[in-house]
Amino acid sequence: MIHKKTCFSLMAIFLFLFASHLAGQTSPVPLDDPRIEARVDALLKQMSLEEKVGQLVQRDASAGITGPGAGGGAWAEPMARGAIGSLFNITNPSEINALQKVAMEKSRLRIPVIFALDVIHGYRTTFPVPLGMAATWDPALVERASRIAAEEASAAGIRWTFSPMVDIARDARWGRIVEGAGEDPYLGAAMARAYVRGYQGKQLDAPDSIAACAKHYVAYGAAEGGREYNTVDMSERTLRQVYLPPFQAAVEAGAATLMSAFNSLNGVPASANEFTLKEILKGEWRFPGFVVSDYTAIAELMAHGIANDGPTAARKAFLAGVDMDMESRLLLGLVDLVHSGAVSESAVDDAVRRILRVKFALGLFDHPYTPEKARPATIRPEYVEVARSVAEKSFVLLKNEPMASGAPALPVSSSVQTMALIGPLADDAPDMLGPWHTAESNPKEVVTLRVALAERAAASQIKLSYARGTDIWGNSETGFAAALKAASQADLVVLALGEDAGSSGEGGSRAHLDLPGNQQKLLEAVAATGRPIVLILFNGHPLVLTPVVPHVRALIEAWFPGVQAGPALVRTLFGDANPSGRLTVSFPRAVGQEPLYYNALNTGRPAEGIDLNHRPRTADERYHSRYIDEPNSPLFPFGYGLSYTRFTYSPLTLSKTTLSARALNSGQAEPLRVSAEVKNTGDRSGEEVVQLYIREQGTSVARPVREMKGFRRIALAPGESKRVEFTIGRDELAFWNIDMKEVVEPARVTVWVGPSSVEGSQGDIEINE
Ligand code: BGC
Repeated sequence: MIHKKTCFSLMAIFLFLFASHLAGQTSPVPLDDPRIEARVDALLKQMSLEEKVGQLVQRDASAGITGPGAGGGAWAEPMARGAIGSLFNITNPSEINALQKVAMEKSRLRIPVIFALDVIHGYRTTFPVPLGMAATWDPALVERASRIAAEEASAAGIRWTFSPMVDIARDARWGRIVEGAGEDPYLGAAMARAYVRGYQGKQLDAPDSIAACAKHYVAYGAAEGGREYNTVDMSERTLRQVYLPPFQAAVEAGAATLMSAFNSLNGVPASANEFTLKEILKGEWRFPGFVVSDYTAIAELMAHGIANDGPTAARKAFLAGVDMDMESRLLLGLVDLVHSGAVSESAVDDAVRRILRVKFALGLFDHPYTPEKARPATIRPEYVEVARSVAEKSFVLLKNEPMASGAPALPVSSSVQTMALIGPLADDAPDMLGPWHTAESNPKEVVTLRVALAERAAASQIKLSYARGTDIWGNSETGFAAALKAASQADLVVLALGEDAGSSGEGGSRAHLDLPGNQQKLLEAVAATGRPIVLILFNGHPLVLTPVVPHVRALIEAWFPGVQAGPALVRTLFGDANPSGRLTVSFPRAVGQEPLYYNALNTGRPAEGIDLNHRPRTADERYHSRYIDEPNSPLFPFGYGLSYTRFTYSPLTLSKTTLSARALNSGQAEPLRVSAEVKNTGDRSGEEVVQLYIREQGTSVARPVREMKGFRRIALAPGESKRVEFTIGRDELAFWNIDMKEVVEPARVTVWVGPSSVEGSQGDIEINE
């Protein structure tokens, strides 16, 4: 016994030295690094079954010890028993340290607890909501923002975030569309990697790194009817082609954890889905980290109807591949399940191993505590700068029509002497933070549009009036008169309309995608004054803007921009910043078009060439895949966004026009290079998001009418042009074919390089046998 202990301590010292050495390295150490594995092995051997099961338990500190709704909690006692592996929703570093001290000093094996939190788009410095972050099409900037989030959160002792949400969302009704990167798997994968890199940094065991959690695995965003938590039924091909890639990208980028989703997938709840968890994630992708269930998702297996009692739910979730139980408190039942033989202890060991790996990789055993520094009085100025810059790049200019003078409505012309700022979101700090900010993110640190515009107007000798007009939700028109008075006296009206933050996010599905309350009525009343309107929209859902657009000269989609909402918007309005965000979700003309996404299949009767703007008058107009009362196309398509300058695209240059499927599949083919020259033909500097799309025809299964395969954000001075080159090889051309193999097949391929999913310079290539 003594001998064994001494041996362990020596080994621990040796491994500690090794780990410290690792910390100085710059390339990330994989979770299953042999040096970590040795430490895990040594610890696992000493653990009792109860201690092992304790590691699988995650509790919500805010829910209280006896469960949701109880509030507060005496966590020290279970922590001293080693009965809790992770605790979340505490943000006070001294509280975190005190509890960690219990785990490190009172529990028999001194296993640290991982403190977690939903750090979704910033910790204290709140950036735009993730849908806005994606609209920047700037993964490097998203990585920077996530790094800042990691620095701030880790300083409070939080070493694990439940982010990024990498669910593909093709339905604007779904409230959680705001939490992800939108409808496209290629962009979704790029954003997934950016978040993971930002959170986890160069070294997971650096004190300012936090473990990422890609969620919600998987297909949560495909809920029927866009209704929260609803059923998902989809082909394995769509799953692999569309919904899995961002998760795979997160895993390949080293994401330490994944979260299993609430929804059922083809009848099997995602949190008991052996196919997605065991076969794909842990099998095909060799994911070395652990899977945490979503909140009470294990208990919800009973409501789904695949378990009639808690132990069955626990057994099903666990055997399917869920390693940690968020708040259901059902995996505690594994002790009995192992004793009864229903679950093997080696299965428990595998889950514990995965959790310990992450704890070792985070350096928690060696550095369990966080230095308790005083909370800074203000956000660091360089973080504020980044927040402003992300917000600016997230804005999507959807419309910019000329004023009477002939000049476009934006940027605001120097001839504007009086402005009216109207709308319930103009001076609304809390909603700027979006549906899911942390408790550390303070509305008092938000600069609203009203505050920033007042400052700018004063500096520019513009007379500014302000009227709230109406509430976001509600039908009182008492504020209309003041708003109309202000509008009628203004050279330019800036309207700030949209949703409140609670209209999207979890539990925020909507059946109507209009402006809430009587905002449409207010808009029309203001428009009736005849004064030109610039509309700034704040929202988490893509809205139906069909009745909105005709009333405004210019329209900026601002999402929920975060702490720097006002300054970023004012710089954009006045042209100090040139809008360069692009939509990552299709904006519908009518709710009935949902789900609506650009990378759809063509169908056997596409409506191409048919005028869809009126009811069909002939059989030829009717028997197409169409609606009789609305065009098929979105009002604003994926990839779309205007600038204060203009960009033109040259015809494509292709390095070759034929490729061999065999050579591509065997990795022997030289990829094809495709390029276009992009020119800024306007008179302002601007940034363009150059997008690459393909379409494959003649393949064993139908392929989308367009699929994004690359994008690049470039800056161009007036008159400047740049050649933008993409490569097209196996990764771009392979797809899940009729035999469910990811291969390149002979095909006719159309290639586009352009500014959105509906434009671009086009070329053709042929893939032979
Ligand atoms: C959400 C997750 C979140 C978890 C913990 C759940 O309701 O679906 O996204 O991470 O709660 O707060």
